[in-house]
Amino acid sequence: MLCSGDTVAVLPSSDSYFISGKILPDEGFSKSMLVLDGIKPDHALEITNALRYNVDFRFLTAGEDFLIEMDHDKNLVRSFSYMPDPVTTHKLTRNEDGYLEYELIELPTEIRYRHITGEIKSTLNQALINADVSPSVSAVVYGILECVVNFRSDSRKGDKFTVFLEERYFNDKKLKGGKVLLASYDGKRTGYKVAYAYTDTDRNSAFNAHYTRKGEALIRAALRLPVDKVHVTSSYGQRIHPVTGKKTFHYGVDYRGATGDPVYSVSKGTVASTGYDAVSGNKITIEHQDNTKTVYYHLSKILVKKGQKVGSRQKIAEIGRTGRVTGPHLHFGVVDNRGKWVNPMNRKMIATPKLEDERYARFLVQMEDIDNLIRDHLTKERMFADYTLIGLSGTDFIYTHDNLR
Ligand SMILES: [Zn+2]
Repeated sequence: MLCSGDTVAVLPSSDSYFISGKILPDEGFSKSMLVLDGIKPDHALEITNALRYNVDFRFLTAGEDFLIEMDHDKNLVRSFSYMPDPVTTHKLTRNEDGYLEYELIELPTEIRYRHITGEIKSTLNQALINADVSPSVSAVVYGILECVVNFRSDSRKGDKFTVFLEERYFNDKKLKGGKVLLASYDGKRTGYKVAYAYTDTDRNSAFNAHYTRKGEALIRAALRLPVDKVHVTSSYGQRIHPVTGKKTFHYGVDYRGATGDPVYSVSKGTVASTGYDAVSGNKITIEHQDNTKTVYYHLSKILVKKGQKVGSRQKIAEIGRTGRVTGPHLHFGVVDNRGKWVNPMNRKMIATPKLEDERYARFLVQMEDIDNLIRDHLTKERMFADYTLIGLSGTDFIYTHDNLR
């Protein structure tokens, strides 16, 4: 007998069966699926195409689980689930019209905060490792602090740093990752430097980043992003082409967007060409001052002319689906000064040099919230004296503690 609340959804119906897999090291979905018995290129391609606009493929990590439900008779994918962590499932289910329909299932998690302070005895990285900060979060902290402190010339033994982290828990287990709400550095030569996280209204907004108290972006000589929302559907490198199904090299980055969304020039320059071809669709090439070129493909509308000067973050076009594509997106590419395609992701790109207007107003409120959170947190910490001294390796020491609820 079934009681309400019993889980029945995971049981396969009689005419289907499940194949489970894991993301392989340095591979995407396609390769990770194709090594499985019974999965054909057609199946893998259909799944990747259906996921492309909902999952940011840059963040796939080796070892993550997925589950494919196959139909016995029709040799067809019936459903697909990708579970990057225990609380998130990206699910595709074949609907009545025969298409794989996407759904995001998220279980509620608990948020806990961690205040980490340390003293530089060897390196910042070592100190963060000692504090059980994951490599990806450490990289974020390092990226923030290297923008406010010149480690090579100004960092001294005895300098102090602080990181305030927001981490998510499920069933008392910490999920991977975490959000750096604040990172600060206090040194003999540097003085006190601090940066805060800014959270825009959309989780894919290009403005989600860290800024100084004045709202200044942490990277000065960076390219501006060509779009408002950062959602990469296909990154630079080898891939199975979504339309041809053939293995090809992808010489750029695809940003998901809706037809009509603005496309910006990433830096000052001159429009070298505009045009159309059957593969790239409507396209623009801009030549910049350092002789690099940037290209923008599949546009619905071109708003500039050959020879025209454009500014950084000037709107030059609108996103479209012209050329050989499966949906509206911007293909963005970078050619270096020797004429070679390079990975745009290796360039530092920011949405804005400075938060302004409503965004800065929102940032001021968010900074105050973060400061209050830290104050509450430290008060509890003092009241309960719940310190744990960890990482007494002789090189660095860190005080940490669990958030008190
Ligand atoms: Zn592309």
